[in-house]
Amino acid sequence: MHPFRRVQALSLAFKPFREADQLAHWRDGCVRDLVENAYGQVPYVRSLFRRVGLVPADIRSVSDLAALPLSSKRELQDAGLMQVVARNARIDRLLDRSTSGSTGERMLVKRTWFEERLLNAFRWRVLREYGLGPCERVAVALFHGAKDPRDSQALFRLAQRVGVRQMLILDVLGDPGVAQTAARYAPQALMGMTSAIAKLVEDVQTGGYSLQPRFVLTSGELLTDPLRQRIGTLGSRIVDVYGANECNFMAWQCPANAEGYHICDDAHIVEVLTADGRPAAVGEWGEVVVTNLISYAMPLIRYRIGDLAVRGPDWCACGSPFSTLLAVRGRTIDCFALPGGRVLHPWEILNVIRPYTGWVRQFQMVQTAPGEIVYRVLAARTPAESEIQAIEQAARQVLAGCASFRLNMVKTIESAPSGKSRPFIAYQQAVVTGL
Ligand SMILES: [Zn+2]
Repeated sequence: MHPFRRVQALSLAFKPFREADQLAHWRDGCVRDLVENAYGQVPYVRSLFRRVGLVPADIRSVSDLAALPLSSKRELQDAGLMQVVARNARIDRLLDRSTSGSTGERMLVKRTWFEERLLNAFRWRVLREYGLGPCERVAVALFHGAKDPRDSQALFRLAQRVGVRQMLILDVLGDPGVAQTAARYAPQALMGMTSAIAKLVEDVQTGGYSLQPRFVLTSGELLTDPLRQRIGTLGSRIVDVYGANECNFMAWQCPANAEGYHICDDAHIVEVLTADGRPAAVGEWGEVVVTNLISYAMPLIRYRIGDLAVRGPDWCACGSPFSTLLAVRGRTIDCFALPGGRVLHPWEILNVIRPYTGWVRQFQMVQTAPGEIVYRVLAARTPAESEIQAIEQAARQVLAGCASFRLNMVKTIESAPSGKSRPFIAYQQAVVTGL
């Protein structure tokens, strides 16, 4: 990223443009820089251009982007790391944000230290928009406590020491004392994965603790009515944000309570496309395709992120220059009710098998009977028998005899009518879908 653009991007994370034409000018400039750099440095991107017979000079603005082909998770995965990461990036120094979590499909994500900080700065901007002060505390509820050891977070720790950007990660599944920790920390804002927040709220209430954040930011999965009700018992304002591992925050509910979500137009280009590939009309459902304007180490250009959304008007009724989405259909994560009354969150299994899943390309975890869980796997390569056993043993330990667990190799994993495969299917739904 050009140094001048870096400075401007950082300043935007503190103060966004007020005028739509300034924003449009910035986006066009970002697109030109991004495609020029990606074409020169990233073999995969160059092959995209070749496929349609274009060169970077043909892409001068946001509207020109539509001439480039879309890329799916699978295509980036198949291309391999050396093809999708910029040649001028020090690959050993990049932060790894790869995931095989809630989507069931593995996705490589690499970023430089600066890109990671920049995306985080945009996230803090959203928190400020909802009214978070610089010295107020944020708790983040997750299903794991994992961190990249290469990300020292030195700047962040320094900020915390001087009393700004106070943030605490809560491992809702792994830390038995998480409710007490959260209550002691008394955050002004609570954010994280929607069902992790809901579980934390439940633990806090069962433990007799008190937690009263001013607002709760749900993300990562669909905010269903039962989840909203459970989180709503805190009495805090609930706002939903739309983000993904690959891009951090992409959209957030209008802070002024107008209908819909503001799109983070200064960091991403979010397109909503219908099944035949045309841009959705306002009010129409379509597939979300995103171009990340600030990731150069591993560019995502017209990337099919795997979600559906309803396109909204290009300006929000609140007067913000950001364009909007009216709804986002994220994924839902179903818990497995096991015989004997134990309710198992599928991430409890995912967390323990993760170290052994390097060869898994895509998975689906299905509760085929109340006491039976089948881990269906589409393999990236043929695993050794010991690799399969390692996964089965780790999972069986967590299940502690409440349910059986076995790994089945499959050739395909079916998609739901929405076009997305469901990574977790609980018993009742497994019966309905015939799996
Ligand atoms: Zn608005």
